[in-house]
Amino acid sequence: SRGKVLVSACLLGSAVRYDGRDNLIAHPLLQQLQTQQRLVSFCPECAGGLSTPRAPAEQQGNRVVTVAGKDVTAKFELGADLAVQTAQRQQVVMAVLKAKSPSCGVGQIYDGSFSKTLVNGDGVMAARLQAAGISTFSELQLTEASAWLANYDAIDA
Ligand code: SF4
Repeated sequence: SRGKVLVSACLLGSAVRYDGRDNLIAHPLLQQLQTQQRLVSFCPECAGGLSTPRAPAEQQGNRVVTVAGKDVTAKFELGADLAVQTAQRQQVVMAVLKAKSPSCGVGQIYDGSFSKTLVNGDGVMAARLQAAGISTFSELQLTEASAWLANYDAIDA
């Protein structure tokens, strides 16, 4: 069976962002995966027990804190652990994740000062998925993601 692709739920139109909105995108890769029934929609912050809407949060070193200074690290880590469990159960091989999010960001995240300043780093879930051997891309890297999956499918065929 073909490997599945975990996608940040907000990118698929679920209104699960901290502000109660979504980040719906349209792209041929996502349409193809939908048709092939290979999409696994997941929001780690919801899975970790945070409500929507919720306070915005950013990583500060090894912790995740809200703009009001509340430590929400445990919920972010729980959500990331549940994502890895789901990914392994569903045979996920790749993930398409929302850029810059403290959970989902790939390669760049906000620096913890709540000033829209980016630093190199990965979201909590993105890092866990990478450590579990899953290839991660943001929605800004869908050309690369499409190429990666085409290569995977060619080898897997
Ligand atoms: Fe989207 Fe990830 Fe934030 Fe959930 S945690 S709303 S999936 S960016």
